Amino acid sequence: MSKFDFDLFVIGAGSGGVRAARMAAAMGVRVGIAEERYLGGTCVNVGCVPKKLYVYASQYAESFSEAAGFGLTTQGTNFDWPTLRDNKTKEISRLNEIYRNLLVNSGCTLMDGRAVISGPQSVQVGDKTFSAERILVAVGGWPFVPDIPGAEHIISSNEVFDLETFPKRVIVVGGGYIAIEFAGIFAGLGCDTHLVHRGALFLKGFDQEVREFTAQEVAKKGVKLRFNTEIASIEKHSDGRLKVVFIDGQTELADQVMYATGRVPKTEGLGLETVGVALANNGAISVNEQYQTSIPSIYAVGDVIDRVQLTPVALAEGMALVRSLYGKGSPPVDYELIPTAVFSQPNIGTVGLTEEDAIKRYPQLDVYRSEFRSMKHTLSGSEERTLMKLLVDRSNDKVVGVHMVGADAGEIIQGIAVALKAGATKATFDATIGIHPTAAEEFVTMREPSRSY
Ligand code: NDP
Repeated sequence: MSKFDFDLFVIGAGSGGVRAARMAAAMGVRVGIAEERYLGGTCVNVGCVPKKLYVYASQYAESFSEAAGFGLTTQGTNFDWPTLRDNKTKEISRLNEIYRNLLVNSGCTLMDGRAVISGPQSVQVGDKTFSAERILVAVGGWPFVPDIPGAEHIISSNEVFDLETFPKRVIVVGGGYIAIEFAGIFAGLGCDTHLVHRGALFLKGFDQEVREFTAQEVAKKGVKLRFNTEIASIEKHSDGRLKVVFIDGQTELADQVMYATGRVPKTEGLGLETVGVALANNGAISVNEQYQTSIPSIYAVGDVIDRVQLTPVALAEGMALVRSLYGKGSPPVDYELIPTAVFSQPNIGTVGLTEEDAIKRYPQLDVYRSEFRSMKHTLSGSEERTLMKLLVDRSNDKVVGVHMVGADAGEIIQGIAVALKAGATKATFDATIGIHPTAAEEFVTMREPSRSY
């Protein structure tokens, strides 16, 4: 009989925590899991899932107007925000229940409450203290909003999903995934949308050509891009509108100002300092290759370790940890070739190196590039264009990066990522028969490099 209440106590029932808890419980491990906010974490409640639902919503108006070219006309469109918001909330509640059932049915002891680490092998939830042989911290991250005058008027991705009224005019600040995705959502739903970014171009870290192309396409959809500027202050007028003052003195009125300026690990008040868990400068929990912190009985996975802030990465980390602690061992998570999509409009899908990084690593680089108007838009009247890029190391023919901006890029790049993971060469792509007529077939029919280094 173990001297501990639990073999594993998981703090945080988000993507990484739930996956680790369920998998461990299925192996016969006695698991306790505590969640203070919502089951499913950021992804299910204020991230990936409701965001994607809103992205779908935001594409209908454009689809209706494009339908005319195909002979279908509608009597104009009317968007009712409360319907979308409340239907979304119902769906999220359904998912919360599914998460609850998954955890309970797998044998985990689920506690609704805030857990604080009170010792290397003890956790406090409310007025109860539990001992655990191991503790896993999977508490995720939290939106970072800079402290400017009027910051109390700013909303983040935590609030945006449940606004009382839908804004007529919005300013979205930031140049990362969330800012670009939400600018597209707001614009698609008919809001006068301004995207403000401090740099010369958004999406730092993405392929330069992809960034430039996306900027053109996003602007075509009506998003007003304001680069190289920042907001100095925000003031609320008596009519509820927000007066935004930029650092160059220009002003703008808006109904909402949303900041999407990064997310930081949510480590405060968890008791980590009390037990001496080492943190990095940005507050992330430092872990070794086995996700073990400086205190050997305490582990951490997901956004709180700030390696790659993506749900599938947190899942992979949680599973690798459980396999190595309770299973037959696990190879370390491979952080190379992680595919990713930005659900901008159009989508970005990417796997592997950017052209800029690829040239540094593989000096003999061939760049295959294709840009076109998709077949659908020959009748729809849309000016949207698609970009595809394939980067090939000429020395061994290996494909080292693939990028796409266009409809369903996320769906397409997922399959291409499998090919890259399997070590596909350009010859493999060339030998693959295309599926006609699709946009994706372009990836297997690019014959001549557009440029070679
Ligand atoms: P990102 O880290 O992607 O981007 C943050 C942006 O905010 C950058 O453009 C950054 O500018 C800017 N910024 C940072 N600080 C300031 C500041 N003080 N003033 C003005 N601008 C600032 O963060 P997000 O919030 O967009 O998203 C967080 C993470 O969530 C992402 O990194 C991603 O991993 C994940 N995510 C993934 C999604 C997906 O897979 N589709 C969707 C949404 C989120 P600069 O470039 O100059 O540093």
